[in-house]
Amino acid sequence: MRCPYCSTVENKVIESRINQTGDITRRRRECLHCQGRFTTYEKVENVMPSIVKKDGRREPFSRDKIFSGIQKACQKRPITTEQIEKIVTQIESKIASFNVHELPARTLGHLVMAALHDLDKVAYVRFASVYREFKDVEEFVAELKQESPQQEGTL
Ligand SMILES: [Zn+2]
Repeated sequence: MRCPYCSTVENKVIESRINQTGDITRRRRECLHCQGRFTTYEKVENVMPSIVKKDGRREPFSRDKIFSGIQKACQKRPITTEQIEKIVTQIESKIASFNVHELPARTLGHLVMAALHDLDKVAYVRFASVYREFKDVEEFVAELKQESPQQEGTL
């Protein structure tokens, strides 16, 4: 880490602190050459898998895309942005925990559907009906049949 005052790379850490959520380390450093003090922030880079689409194309994992997809499904539903944020974070952590380089788009869709199923039935059906276009109809019907019987009539 280069000193911002004299560009020397040698410095010592005089203070190290982790933020409340535990993901950023703030280090106070002192340059060994000019004694200038500066701060650096260290963050673990989230290693998220590429999303593999049905046609084999890969695209980078996008938190924003998941967020807007869920937001769209939740339109005019009594669901707050905070609730959506929470779901997206849960999905993101789950995917990160898989520890894989690639994830089928289908699996991602399932995770979102499962989360919406617990949150709001209308949003769930909306998302499912859009998602359906990416799968064949039989698969989708099979999916609906897997729904627990006590949920019937609540949609
Ligand atoms: Zn310096």
